[in-house]
Amino acid sequence: MNAHTHDRRSFLRGTGRTVLACGCAVGGLALPLASAHAAQTCTAQTAASQKALSPQDALTYLKEGNARFAAGKPMVCNPTPQVAATATGQHPFAAVVSCIDSRAPANLIFDQSIGDVFEPRIAGNFVNDDMIGSLEFACAAAGAKVLMVVGHTECGAVKGACDDVVLGNLTQTLANIKPAVAAVQGFDSDRTSANAAFVQAVAEKNVELTLARIRQRSSILAGLEKKGDLIITGAMYDVGTGKVAFAA
Ligand SMILES: [Zn+2]
Repeated sequence: MNAHTHDRRSFLRGTGRTVLACGCAVGGLALPLASAHAAQTCTAQTAASQKALSPQDALTYLKEGNARFAAGKPMVCNPTPQVAATATGQHPFAAVVSCIDSRAPANLIFDQSIGDVFEPRIAGNFVNDDMIGSLEFACAAAGAKVLMVVGHTECGAVKGACDDVVLGNLTQTLANIKPAVAAVQGFDSDRTSANAAFVQAVAEKNVELTLARIRQRSSILAGLEKKGDLIITGAMYDVGTGKVAFAA
């Protein structure tokens, strides 16, 4: 196992942890800063603000955003001014790979707005060459500082892969999740979607394998990570609580 491999325990370690990493803005209320980065506001990202943000700051923005969302205290930004502010250019700080699930839209669960986050979404949050190409645009060309792969609980795509569902083009889509199904050991009494613990283990393994695939298939993204210009990490979203468990 190399340093970049996140095993299942890394997600569990993140569960239940206080995700508000510093005394920054919560619900629009500016609190004294405990770290060097500026609290996120409703102001759209600019070239200057993106450049000033470190990858760790960008990760903190996502953590603080989910903390606001889960607490029911979003920033309540009016997105219309951000439309005007980003009309001639975008400078997002993050790229979040997530499932198409209607309960897991990245902008909402991380309390972000127009111009903040690239949101490539596909059933089962895996990556193929086209997704990786999109991520290379987001991070290498457009300057995103954190690349997060977010799986989620109760994932229908993962359940479909566990049950070998066959349905038109979806069959091929689910084939991308089958390596995670095969990689999860045990659960011999029930390796179907009826076993919630098995489904969760496969969803977590799928995030782990997706991260590994990104690093293996993209020397550009792996190179940015190696230089310290990009954090590549995983997370699991709980559709029942609204909370994200972060691997890093
Ligand atoms: Zn899903």
